[in-house]
Amino acid sequence: LRRNAGEPEFHQAMREVFESVSLAVAKHPKYADNSILERICEPERQIIFRVPWVDDNGRTQINRGFRVQFNSALGPYKGGLRFHPSVTLGTIKFLGFEQIFKNSLTGMPIGGGKGGSDFDPKGKSDAEIMRFCQSFMTELAGHIGEYTDVPAGDIGVGQREIGYLFGQYKRITNRYESGVLTGKGLGWGGSLVRTEATGYGTVFFVDEMLKSTGQTFEGKKVIVSGSGNVALFAMEKVAQLGGTVVACSDSNGVVYDRDGLDVELLTHVKNVERGRLSDYAKVRGTQSEYRDGGRVWDVASDTKIEVALPCATQNELGDDDARTLINSGLIAVGEGANMPSTPDAIREFQRAGILFAPGKAANAGGVATSALEMQQNASRDSWSFEYTEERLAKIMRSIHDRCAETADEYGRPGDYVLGANIAGFTRVADAMIALGVI
Ligand code: NDP
Repeated sequence: LRRNAGEPEFHQAMREVFESVSLAVAKHPKYADNSILERICEPERQIIFRVPWVDDNGRTQINRGFRVQFNSALGPYKGGLRFHPSVTLGTIKFLGFEQIFKNSLTGMPIGGGKGGSDFDPKGKSDAEIMRFCQSFMTELAGHIGEYTDVPAGDIGVGQREIGYLFGQYKRITNRYESGVLTGKGLGWGGSLVRTEATGYGTVFFVDEMLKSTGQTFEGKKVIVSGSGNVALFAMEKVAQLGGTVVACSDSNGVVYDRDGLDVELLTHVKNVERGRLSDYAKVRGTQSEYRDGGRVWDVASDTKIEVALPCATQNELGDDDARTLINSGLIAVGEGANMPSTPDAIREFQRAGILFAPGKAANAGGVATSALEMQQNASRDSWSFEYTEERLAKIMRSIHDRCAETADEYGRPGDYVLGANIAGFTRVADAMIALGVI
């Protein structure tokens, strides 16, 4: 921990993994003998760079760029880029660390990495976004590649940003190397279902947990935090499976529609008009209540909530929120975001016997579909929506089953946190041992 001073989120992520994984290390001495724990929390490489760009007023702006190449025992580094003013090296390290185990759980040949910048895309013009992305890629290009490191999107990085990044990579290298980035547009190497994959996958995982106790989404009331890429498609899939999403949020406020959100309208306001939740509430009229500055989990004080899907950001759901949700009638939680629940909140959920799906398992559908995009790029093929969605559903079922079986094997049935951490860890650790001390 001393070596990573001032990085509380990274400490939190390590602690959570080590709490579970210590059981595997006790059972299998090969992990201790090969110093796997010491090695796995040290990134293979960390790149920090200056990103200079010129704003629309002709002024030079400076941001900081990061790429943490954490672990490549299973394949090329793979993980998103986050553009948000809160980004620090510690943020990227916690995300990169989580990514190692998540990618391992998918069963696909991808290592773990993450990157981003403290650049704030909010309020920037399209031209400013493009100039920033071009400058960011001018440095990053030397460190990535189809066989080396394959970034994707995350908070603040969607298809528009991936387009500008890919354009600059192509220009610098003079190579149309489709497999260097995922999350691309359909006309230039992207895969159907990639945009939907994280949200859909989270709901598929929760559906599997519900089925394991003889339940389904049909008729359930659901609450979602965030209203970005992951949140919107989680809401869409919940509606398709017969559930009702009654509330969601952005960083300014919450919308609560007692009889269910109009997900199609919301997606239009967010993705086509690039509007805010307050704009959705205006168009929706009296059926919608907008709570400026409100907390989304407080909605559970007003109505019964059976499923909660935190899909915004880390540590957004604390122990008070967990108790509010539990008292409301909660059955299941699926983390669409990375590490959205605090350790105290997770303890509350587990103590109350709530089905709890940790992010590294529940939101792995995004990176799994990115790996499917890489497969399509490598074979110069494009698969249909139905086929790709079925592959995603199958991957999520297999991640669910692997977590559940591992929890059973370690005498903690139903503990998906333990199952995900140990199942993710052992696959990477075994590969690290096989590759020697490198
Ligand atoms: P987006 O940028 O599309 O959306 C993020 C949403 O969360 C927005 O509604 C945003 O509100 C809200 N939000 C972000 N930061 C904060 C904050 N500090 N406080 C309150 N609200 C906040 O990102 P994604 O949907 O892509 O990502 C959401 C989460 O899912 C992240 O944890 C990400 O790491 C994780 N994830 C994403 C994957 C993907 O494929 N995109 C894959 C796996 C995990 P506002 O618009 O007001 O900022």
